[in-house]
Amino acid sequence: MATADQLATTVTALKAQLGDRIVGPQDPGWDEARRAWNLAVDQRPAAVARPESAEDVVAVVEVARGQSLRVAAQGTGHGAPSRGSLEGSVLVDMSRMNAVEIDPERRRARLQGGAQWQHVVGPAAEHGLAGLSGSAPDVCVTGYALGGGVSWMVRRYGLAANSIRAAEVVTADGRQLRTDADSDPDLFWALRGGGGSFGVVTALDLELFPVAELYAGVLFWPQERAAEVLGAWSEWAAGVPDEMTSLGRLLNVPPLEEIPEPVRGRSFVVVEAAWLGDEAGGSEQLAALRELGPEMDTFAMIPPTGLAAIHMDPPEPVPGVGDGILLDDFPTEAVGGLVRATGPETDSPLVSLEVRHLGGAAGRADAEGGAIAAIDASFALYGVGMAANEEMKQAAEKRLDQVREALAPWDAGSLLNFADRPVDASRLFGGDAYRRLREVKSKYDPDNIFQANHEIPPAG
Ligand SMILES: Cc1cc2nc3c(=O)[nH]c(=O)nc-3n(C[C@H](O)[C@H](O)[C@H](O)COP(=O)(O)OP(=O)(O)OC[C@H]3O[C@@H](n4cnc5c(N)ncnc54)[C@H](O)[C@@H]3O)c2cc1C
Repeated sequence: MATADQLATTVTALKAQLGDRIVGPQDPGWDEARRAWNLAVDQRPAAVARPESAEDVVAVVEVARGQSLRVAAQGTGHGAPSRGSLEGSVLVDMSRMNAVEIDPERRRARLQGGAQWQHVVGPAAEHGLAGLSGSAPDVCVTGYALGGGVSWMVRRYGLAANSIRAAEVVTADGRQLRTDADSDPDLFWALRGGGGSFGVVTALDLELFPVAELYAGVLFWPQERAAEVLGAWSEWAAGVPDEMTSLGRLLNVPPLEEIPEPVRGRSFVVVEAAWLGDEAGGSEQLAALRELGPEMDTFAMIPPTGLAAIHMDPPEPVPGVGDGILLDDFPTEAVGGLVRATGPETDSPLVSLEVRHLGGAAGRADAEGGAIAAIDASFALYGVGMAANEEMKQAAEKRLDQVREALAPWDAGSLLNFADRPVDASRLFGGDAYRRLREVKSKYDPDNIFQANHEIPPAG
């Protein structure tokens, strides 16, 4: 544990190198600097660094190591709940490093480690290309991709982690490495799904895919029909081609003024989906769901930039508690258990509880893939409740426990990106992958300087 003197010395040493790119606890703007996107997490690091270059990151790593402090890279703090206390760590806020370049010929995006999906999707779309972005435009590409990355195209193109073609990393000894399939291949493997335990990623090369338009949108029904609609969706999902990625969801829209009238304050069961194809093909696929007579239907041909609106994620930081598990199946009994745990009949239900359909390319391991080469489960469950105060937080935690208990018979492990609570690493990685991740950690960060969410400790 670092002493107060040691922490003050660290802030002084960091400022000597990085000036106002370091914020310490005594500085104006401290509360803003230490804030995570998830406002329910109270981060109290020793200092916050806001690097503007890979060289700045090297300076932070060297000073922190010299003072026996840890280094915690942050894209946005969407994944903050699953990281331990930052006392004794320098939080490295990567948000100023957000430049993006698109190479349309090679179908690549080169982006700095703090770039968010909203910085990538538009420039890529100008060339008829898309990256494997998730539901929220303000999630950091690096944090998302290192943790797996389940996109609207996951059943067709697999996990975003495996679309990483090269990564530039500052390692624990202060080196800047460019790693790919040929250079430091063990590190390259670990980064693709193993999370942020291995270094600070300062840049990524990502593969882009030729997607100019998709047929995507949402079907809404009153939540009283939850069991019927989710049951029908689960059966339907079992038969769709890989070009269709969808989720079924219980959604309790908050009564906030900024939310459009038709949905504000209402409770729905919804199906959200993206079809990689034209309207005629997508409509043919959706026919069975439309027969259930949705109250609203927003499906349309949209460019990839339109995908950011489908899931209706909060546009600004919010306080929330969430958690998720993988499911090997989602049969009628599971639907019933889920609806009983947080459906229309329950008090203070979760704001959102979604079941994402996996399978397809998400389930096919590629020999060239990284630490999460594929997901051995058919569905991913994620629930979240508002946590503006302690009472709401506890209510949401209780609901999450009840959902988890109801779905226990189909529990197939956890996915790094959707596990907001601490979880035994054996649930995130197969035994062999976990052993290998710990060996890579020993090689590149033997003193365990880097503090990630869902950390991988060094072997031994
Ligand atoms: C509203 C919302 C929507 C989401 N939608 C999806 C989705 O559709 N699909 C999906 O797969 N996930 C989704 N997630 C989960 C999200 O991908 C994870 O929370 C992810 O960790 C966020 O990355 P971040 O960098 O923005 O967050 P942070 O909390 O800043 O980072 C999370 C972790 O990533 C690592 N990290 C971040 N940046 C770096 C870096 N430069 N170098 C090294 N390590 C780094 C660190 O270990 C850190 O602890 C969603 C989460 C939320 C809250």
